Amino acid sequence: MTDFAEKNINQSNQNNENFKFIIDEFANCKVMKYQVPNWDTLSLNQKKYIYCLSQAALWGRDIYFNQNYKNNITIRKALENILSSFDGDKDNDEWREFEIYAKRFFFSNGIHHHYGEKKFFPKCSREYFASLLKGENAEFILDEIYNPNIAPIRRDNNTQNDIVKSSAVNFYQDVSRKEVEEYYNNIDNDFLHPVSLGLNSKLVKENGEIKEHVAKINGMYSKYIEKIVYWLKESIKFAENEKQKAYTNKLIEFYITGDLKIWDEYNILWSQDSESVCDYINGFIETYNDPLGMKGTWEAVVDFKDIEATKRTQILCSNAQWFEDHSPIKPQYRKKQVTGVSAKVINVAMLSGDCYPTSPIGINLPNADWIRKDYGSKSVTLANISDAYFQASLENPKSALKEFSFSEQEIERAIKYGQLSDNLHTDMHECLGHGSGQLLESTGANALKEYSSTLEEARADLFALYYLMDEKMIELNLIDSLEVGKAQYDAYVRNGLLVQLARIPLGENITEAHMQNRKLICEYALQNSDCIEKIIKDNKTYFVVKDYDKLRSVFGELLYQIQEIKSTGDYEKGKYLVETYGVKIDSEIHKEVISRYAELNIKPYGGFINPDLQEVKNADGEVIDINISYPQSFIAQQLKYGTEYSFDNE
Ligand code: ZN
Repeated sequence: MTDFAEKNINQSNQNNENFKFIIDEFANCKVMKYQVPNWDTLSLNQKKYIYCLSQAALWGRDIYFNQNYKNNITIRKALENILSSFDGDKDNDEWREFEIYAKRFFFSNGIHHHYGEKKFFPKCSREYFASLLKGENAEFILDEIYNPNIAPIRRDNNTQNDIVKSSAVNFYQDVSRKEVEEYYNNIDNDFLHPVSLGLNSKLVKENGEIKEHVAKINGMYSKYIEKIVYWLKESIKFAENEKQKAYTNKLIEFYITGDLKIWDEYNILWSQDSESVCDYINGFIETYNDPLGMKGTWEAVVDFKDIEATKRTQILCSNAQWFEDHSPIKPQYRKKQVTGVSAKVINVAMLSGDCYPTSPIGINLPNADWIRKDYGSKSVTLANISDAYFQASLENPKSALKEFSFSEQEIERAIKYGQLSDNLHTDMHECLGHGSGQLLESTGANALKEYSSTLEEARADLFALYYLMDEKMIELNLIDSLEVGKAQYDAYVRNGLLVQLARIPLGENITEAHMQNRKLICEYALQNSDCIEKIIKDNKTYFVVKDYDKLRSVFGELLYQIQEIKSTGDYEKGKYLVETYGVKIDSEIHKEVISRYAELNIKPYGGFINPDLQEVKNADGEVIDINISYPQSFIAQQLKYGTEYSFDNE
């Protein structure tokens, strides 16, 4: 699972460093830099290890573009061409609009909005765009970009449609939902140790026959995977220990064979390594982009441990069994033995694929339930990314916090405790929430289908929310007052019912899993209890928590229900909860939030550029150091990646 930042904190403009975090803003996006603290505490070998893994990360970037939509890379090459060679007049609105489109395209890794799923369009005229394009495929490119009927949505979640056919995402070709479900239902899968069917493949109908194209060497994406494997092999030379070598070798074997059993073996080995300082994720991981929740998008993160901050998460982990035993769910759904929950705080050195430029702030892997149950999982909080969000918010003088908070008390509480409560929420969501609970033996791994992601995120959030107001947190010295928990409750309700709606175009539903989950939880509490009050003052709507203890028990009660849904695989009940509380938006409130948010001039979507890692060589050509530097231009980084980590003939 991957989780994104929801930062509402905004203090006054008092960033005291020269390091400016926001480097670019366009449409509703901002691009930030992230710092890599403690880089120089790493040994040369560790730096080389990270360098090789970063190369392996960047070589998979094109896979993700292609997964999002089959023609994304062709379109991107046309944009790159214009951006790097156009030498005409740039001081006019048409060019500026073209550039904004290109940036949005890079930001979303394709023609569809990265969160909203819908295709977006340039605001420069088609004629102008045509004048920039060279080459014989110009008309094709223009149609792809301007025609609203071509690939209108990346992942359709309107189940009235055949969501496999109506989604533009490149996981299926000429097959229907029914055919896909039949295809996978007919594959024998071990019931106790099921592989993640379809995770690394595309299902295609060729001459009336359904075929599965598997990503591997000599298979789908072979040329990229060869590069990834090359750099993974290089990295092994600098591994810190035998464990790292063993799982990297397994991952290489997986990339060579495409065998999902080997993928599981790799995940088991990887999840058992909590000692190494350096670590990475590289593969087909999250299934959020697949309308059926099976196919994994390619992603990579390269990171190393923040040793000081990891102490906080270790307290949570070492008490994981206590949290499990006291969780407000039916006893039979509790894990009798919470195995190997490991959590750490990391600093990221490279992001790629589905994690770039929009990075998660928390990750918990592996995703396979049976591995999580038998071997545990690894949960990370991305400290330097969280920090960049926070610092960037200080660079903006106005704040969503002030606009959407009802009282001074709420604002003060957020300023005082907001960052700690956000960090704890992320830690608990990842290392306790996702790791908690168990399925009944009779429940299949993908029983909740298109609702599984939203319900899983809700489960993890509820677990964190429930315990953030628990005296145990004080006893464990993680907080010194329940005000921290209250700050999170305020922020969660404010965000779930108001602030997050600013990201969604008027008239549209909520489609993204994390956003649905927040809406579901808050709306459920609003409608089924009286602990949240809706107040209208000066024509502005506020949602105010009236009774924190009661809200806590509502969270507990909803967790009880959702755990039952997950454990028993109750698709209908899960569907009911998501559709009733998580999808639709009251249009009056939606309109109001969008206009209040627009006044603040804050960009709701944040993304990052990576630092540059550069080998430093001595006179003999030996690498004596890896330097880190922070580039300043989003487009320049995109063009560099397009030149260095791609192939000419697409
Ligand atoms: Zn999550």
